[in-house]
Amino acid sequence: MKIFIAVVLCKFVYFIGKKVGRGSSLPGKIVLKLFPDILSKIRMPKTVIAVSGSNGKTSTVEMIAHILQQNNVNVIWNKEGSNQIEGVATFLLNNCDTKGNVRADAVLLESDERYARLTFKYFTPTHFVITNLYRDQMTRNAHSEWIFDILKDAVKPKTLLILNADDPLVSCFASDHEKAVYFSMDENKYSTKTPQGVYNDGKYCPLCKAPLEYEYYNMAHIGRYKCTRCVLHTNDALCRITDIDLESKKAVFDGEYEINLNFASLFNVYNLLAAFTLATVLGFDKQKTADALNGYILKSGRIVQFKINEHNGILLTSKHENSVSYNQSIDYIKRNNKNSIVMIMVDAISRKYYTSETSWLFDIDFDGLASSKAESIILTGKYAYDLAVRFEFTGINPDIITVEPNIDNAVNMLSSSGGDADIFVVTCFSDKDKFLSRITQNIVHNN
Ligand SMILES: [Zn+2]
Repeated sequence: MKIFIAVVLCKFVYFIGKKVGRGSSLPGKIVLKLFPDILSKIRMPKTVIAVSGSNGKTSTVEMIAHILQQNNVNVIWNKEGSNQIEGVATFLLNNCDTKGNVRADAVLLESDERYARLTFKYFTPTHFVITNLYRDQMTRNAHSEWIFDILKDAVKPKTLLILNADDPLVSCFASDHEKAVYFSMDENKYSTKTPQGVYNDGKYCPLCKAPLEYEYYNMAHIGRYKCTRCVLHTNDALCRITDIDLESKKAVFDGEYEINLNFASLFNVYNLLAAFTLATVLGFDKQKTADALNGYILKSGRIVQFKINEHNGILLTSKHENSVSYNQSIDYIKRNNKNSIVMIMVDAISRKYYTSETSWLFDIDFDGLASSKAESIILTGKYAYDLAVRFEFTGINPDIITVEPNIDNAVNMLSSSGGDADIFVVTCFSDKDKFLSRITQNIVHNN
């Protein structure tokens, strides 16, 4: 009876909520108030896949869903991105019959790192993909080792972990957990022998705190490492990226499966690899998985192409409060071999909560723009002056930097600039529409 009421109530509130434009977490919130253990009453299908980690959750989930669909699996996933317990409750109850049976062969869940332990208190994922743990939203998540401790509570003995072998902290999830497989990226032409960026989170072993030794770094603290004291090291991987060429937008998986990349970034390739590895664990044919991922265009894509006068433009959606995400955008700009105008906009730091904390700007490798072909850099938004202070600590020629907090004026600067330099706009989900709404006529492709 309880589940019947919960399902009907959830669907009703969701229906009304849609009419008045409310978010997808409210129905779950109401049901959980009435029945705090309702998730334990839901009969889940045989396969329950969870995806968590600092970066890449949404993209990885979307690609896994695509692979499952290509293999004729009836899968449901939380597309609306509500990954905290209320959103997950709404999503699951909405997909139940009135007896509480989920109407699907597989459930795929993006789970917020902090909420996974609450969600998975009531049911156990069969597979748990953990992409990476980086510095992310410090005001909310503090340090990544703190997130590790919280996320570890969500890992149950029966769950098969699919882990990023190249991330020392993520590998620690298997330190007292038997069921784990790994994915990894081989050394390639983008790997470095020394850590890149402003800080080095791979300096010490997360298990015993002795120094870590790296054979190479792929990005941030992700690479091939071993501890100088304990057993922690890069584990052998079930699936690997054996070759990668971002210029020609190609990656090779397991030495033989070539995939064309729609968005050429190491970040994106790690997400593809996570999805590929899960598909392999599920027993799907590797060639078929590679075909599904080949040239796949993410619906939750982070790139918008636009054209202003003679300028080709790209909006690179990054995540505020997440330096690794910004560094990937800067790397993308560095690989562009034509002169460019770069606009960086920080206007609202988060769309979910209020913070004016900007220390994360100092974790971003803005120095990298010095080796790009940027001929001018525009800093805009409410925090333009915070950005300006950060840029004073870079080796970038101050003469090419313009500080213009007013977004209208900054966008006008783009449209009144002559020449045909490429334009890159770097900002976050919370701010990207503030730019796009001002150039709606100029959008070429939004994916
Ligand atoms: Zn150690």
